[in-house]
Amino acid sequence: MATPTLLRAAVLVVSTTASKDASTDKAIPALQDVFATDGDGKWDVASTSIVSDDAAAIREQILKWTDTDDSLINLVVTTGGTGFAVSDITPEAVSEVIDKPAPGLVHGMLAASLQVTPFAVMSRPVAGVRKRTVIVTLPGSPKGAKENLQAILKMLPHACVLAAGVDSRSLHAGGVKKLEQEAGVVGSTAGQSQGHSHNHSHGHSHGHGHGHGGHGGHGHGLVRHAPPADVPPATPLSNDPSLGPTRRNRASPYPMLSVDEALARIDEFTPGVVESERPVNEDLVGYVLARDIYAAEDVPAFRASIVDGYAVVVPKDEDEKGVSESSSKTLSGVFPVTSVSHAAPDEAKVLRDGEIARITTGAPLPAGANAVVMVENTVLHSLTEDNQEEKEVEIRAANVRDGDNVREIGSDVRKGQLLLHKGERITAVGGEVGLLAAAGVQHVTICRRPIVGVLSTGNEIVEHTSRPPSGLRLGEVRDTNRPTLLLAAQEWGFDTVDLGIVVDQPQTLEQRLRDALRQVDVIITTGGVSMGELDLLKPTIERALGGTIHFGRVAMKPGKPTTFATVMVKEASRGTQSDISGSVSHSTRRFVRTIFSLPGNPASALVTFHLFVLPALHKMAGEHPRGLPKVPVALSHDFVLDKERPEYHRAVVSVGADGVLRATSTGGQRSSKVGSMRGSNALLCMPAGPEPLKAGAKVDALLMSNIRSEL
Ligand code: AMP
Ligand code: MG
Repeated sequence: MATPTLLRAAVLVVSTTASKDASTDKAIPALQDVFATDGDGKWDVASTSIVSDDAAAIREQILKWTDTDDSLINLVVTTGGTGFAVSDITPEAVSEVIDKPAPGLVHGMLAASLQVTPFAVMSRPVAGVRKRTVIVTLPGSPKGAKENLQAILKMLPHACVLAAGVDSRSLHAGGVKKLEQEAGVVGSTAGQSQGHSHNHSHGHSHGHGHGHGGHGGHGHGLVRHAPPADVPPATPLSNDPSLGPTRRNRASPYPMLSVDEALARIDEFTPGVVESERPVNEDLVGYVLARDIYAAEDVPAFRASIVDGYAVVVPKDEDEKGVSESSSKTLSGVFPVTSVSHAAPDEAKVLRDGEIARITTGAPLPAGANAVVMVENTVLHSLTEDNQEEKEVEIRAANVRDGDNVREIGSDVRKGQLLLHKGERITAVGGEVGLLAAAGVQHVTICRRPIVGVLSTGNEIVEHTSRPPSGLRLGEVRDTNRPTLLLAAQEWGFDTVDLGIVVDQPQTLEQRLRDALRQVDVIITTGGVSMGELDLLKPTIERALGGTIHFGRVAMKPGKPTTFATVMVKEASRGTQSDISGSVSHSTRRFVRTIFSLPGNPASALVTFHLFVLPALHKMAGEHPRGLPKVPVALSHDFVLDKERPEYHRAVVSVGADGVLRATSTGGQRSSKVGSMRGSNALLCMPAGPEPLKAGAKVDALLMSNIRSEL
């Protein structure tokens, strides 16, 4: 049984014969024997596998061990396929998955073999490290394999421990030091040798450089942080397009993620908010505030009348008893109208005891006045000589109090008061811009909204207007995805750039993507992510742009090949999102750009846009909650389920008189079916399952637009 201090080895036999009949294999028992007898009790042969002389199969099995297995495999040894025969391709296949070559191990093996036979020169071994695993190719003959392994076995524990990185310390729970000492390569005494300090820093920088900090021990191998520019990205998993269709992977090398895992990676690797100061005007609509906003001044800024009427002076009679009574007076009698106050900028007027001033709604109270009597409670008593003006007015008002019909300074908004919170969205209907305007706020700090570029890919795709009806040539397809996605992104309030259509040709695609990376924050491509030899998105992002693919396959229907990647861009043009190194000097500014490569089928493209791209756009724009809103709905009819994958079913959600939300399918859900999105306002989150879900069952619906009313 494995204990935490055992190193875990995996043996891969590369032999077309043994792959057909495993009983013919002698290498596995021979190597197991070496680990057991010569391994000082440090090894657990945790996994073995046999594949034919097929580069893709070799790579796939190694990647399973190095990138996807839940517990770390410390060492992979292959045996077979290292000679000069045409079918011998193991070193080439292994080289493709190696991040760092380890020529020392190769020398060690060859030197030992040459002691045994001059034919050792006929072996072409390679060795190296992928992620946290050491990989070594051994010859195919059981004897040769055994001798080569014996030659380096004593050193391998140390190599494996260092390759496993800093986090192996917790993984191996205190056993690392012991392993180092037992390997006999590190001094255990107080006098620390140079070798020790070197080894230590090496181990650390490895662990750090590959970004295992947060993931150590969990072994979700594909989680690679966008590497800093000085660290080359890990070996791509994608096909090398220059090798042609015969050498492509026949099964996707990308682990299949659940939708939730995929969303978690999008959340992790999408850059955060970039703040920007904007003037307060109507262009602010749609932005989320990056900071709290405080009132710049009092509203109203002066004591103002609430009604049309007469400003009066309510005598402050200190002699009267009772606080509440004392401030209330029956004001009656005839008073001279000594001034007029209109709601207009004007000079300050003064009112004395016994005088009144005609005043309009919103106008400033004359100094000395402390209440306003409504015009309804007054009678005109006399006119001026020229009959043009009021001379005297009779006031007939009971219980006039100091402050009646007066809006005090700052009674609506007090200067310095918190007006709008960070994270609030400026809407066109909620009056936010008006509130800011009223309170004298001239500039606010908002979260920039990412600019979205949409690119269609495919030799068959033509501009939809470029051919007359029935004028398509055989194989041509009108571009559906670009207009659809541009409009969807715009509908959600994002500025878009139309990146056009690009053919399936590596250099052209690379150039178009490079251009796009300079123009936009988020690139959405459609097509070219399936398993065909013209599916160039993944290889171009990984190999040509040096990007990091965070996932390339999702367990869902439609949308399985959905791909999410980030690419580092230096010195991006002004006006876009995502400066991740604001403190760094201008010459070294680097930006993270995200690329969503969506499947080509129109329904898949629109579903995956809503499911995956929208939450990323929301994150960059500072919006909460992110993505489509989710509501529980009842099915209005039976729904057939996909047996393996959860399905995002296009549907119409409506509400009846009973207030219950019901969902009805929009019909055929084939991912190529252009019309299946039409009229749908929701994606139903259907689980995978063998039996149909019955009418009345409750499922979650992701709302793309307003709920229909059946009333
Ligand atoms: P692909 O992922 O490139 O293999 O494309 C899958 C399917 O979607 C193919 O039938 C393509 O012709 C189709 N397709 C790809 N892009 C578009 C597009 N922009 N508009 C309409 N159909 C497309
Ligand atoms: Mg295509």
